[in-house]
Amino acid sequence: MGAHIETEEADGTGARRAARRDEAVRAAVEQGLLGPDSPLVGLLDVTGIRESAAELRAAFEAVVAPGTPVLHAFAVKATPLVPVLRLLHEEGVGAEVASPGELALARAAGMPPEATVLDSPAKTPSELREALSLGIAVNADNPQELTRIDALMGSSTSRSPLGIRVNPQVGGGSIEALSTATATSKFGVALRDEGAREWVVQAYLDRPWLTRLHAHTGSQGIPLALMARGVAETYALAEEINRRAGRRQVDTLDIGGGLPVNFASEATAPTYAQYARLLAEEVPGLLDGRYGLVTEFGRSLLAKHGTVVARVEYAKASGGRAVAVTHAGVQVAARTVYAPGSWPLRISAYDAKGRPKEGPVVVQDVAGPACFAGDLLAEGRSMPLLEQGDYAAALDTGAYYFAHHYGYNSLVRPGVFGFGPGGRFAVVRRAQSVEEIVAESGGSEVDALTRARWEVP
Ligand SMILES: *Cc1c(COP(=O)(O)O)cnc(C)c1O
Repeated sequence: MGAHIETEEADGTGARRAARRDEAVRAAVEQGLLGPDSPLVGLLDVTGIRESAAELRAAFEAVVAPGTPVLHAFAVKATPLVPVLRLLHEEGVGAEVASPGELALARAAGMPPEATVLDSPAKTPSELREALSLGIAVNADNPQELTRIDALMGSSTSRSPLGIRVNPQVGGGSIEALSTATATSKFGVALRDEGAREWVVQAYLDRPWLTRLHAHTGSQGIPLALMARGVAETYALAEEINRRAGRRQVDTLDIGGGLPVNFASEATAPTYAQYARLLAEEVPGLLDGRYGLVTEFGRSLLAKHGTVVARVEYAKASGGRAVAVTHAGVQVAARTVYAPGSWPLRISAYDAKGRPKEGPVVVQDVAGPACFAGDLLAEGRSMPLLEQGDYAAALDTGAYYFAHHYGYNSLVRPGVFGFGPGGRFAVVRRAQSVEEIVAESGGSEVDALTRARWEVP
């Protein structure tokens, strides 16, 4: 049986990825990872993740001057799973972290401090102290945070490369919630606000230890040209700082992540190579060897390598509409369920043996298990009819989906498995048990609110 792909635009890479996914779904059913008592899993394509990491490295190697230091720091929030971070580390990719939890995950994966970058809009004094003592790069979000760093730098020395995050305010994209470079974005120092640019320049002149400059101009929904403009504005600011300082004080630009992902077909588009070439055209000075580079891609590294597969528990009809009630809904696809217009997912149908389903196309809803009407993975989708015992797969869900569990209805976190050649699987994360749900839901505090606790003696 050939690759089960839904469009014709897939290139060879996409077709091979689809073929690996089909093989993995079949093997997961055959080996019992999926079945009546295990109706939901997340699958990760190890080969695909390695390929994307290699593409990322090659894309920038092709455009920077020889010897330019480049750190690709994976945005941990996209797929916060320790074995994934370890795999990326093995592939020469570092970590961008934005919370104590994410830093702990990166450290558990063995990420070295020099490959770790801390960005977050709400770092506490103790987070900053820890990062500086570990020697992790930190980008200050705002003047108050810089004041905290001043105090820490006054009382000790640190190997941490330090910078300021700026918002070039180049505008938003098609998804408001993911647009970081709007006029009123909560992130970074808003460069076009009155006096802000001068404040940033002076902050560098006053602090010889500020050597980096950071911007992340958005995520899914931002056109490439707008991302490149954000980088260009950041580069221009670095040049201005260095001119005013009379030396190469800013030695590294952190250009953030945000490469959009194509959720409409198997094709990887845009590619890292396209973005790197665009930067080479639009901001050639950035790549001529005078600046080191940091990137922070998340979604584009992992999305296409993850698949949620859910068993169809029941197939029914409602008001003339076919509805497949599956085990994948809001708990593994919160964005798609709550904002279906912005986050449509491709759904593939597999039969009860995990083979791509053929047959006439029927308009149907693919529903999740949660108890509210909007818990739909897909609405009015034309695809082979899903029947009881079949499997529905939500594609391109390797980032911001099954690793972002949402605890609605106390649904357990599904197991996540990596797959490699020959139908072999490795546990990335065990499925949560209902005992664990009870424990994390105050199970040991059962009497906390009942009368005895509150009686006045
Ligand atoms: C979320 C985030 C990223 C990653 O964005 P993607 O769209 O997943 O590539 C990078 N840098 C920062 C600061 C972020 O907040």
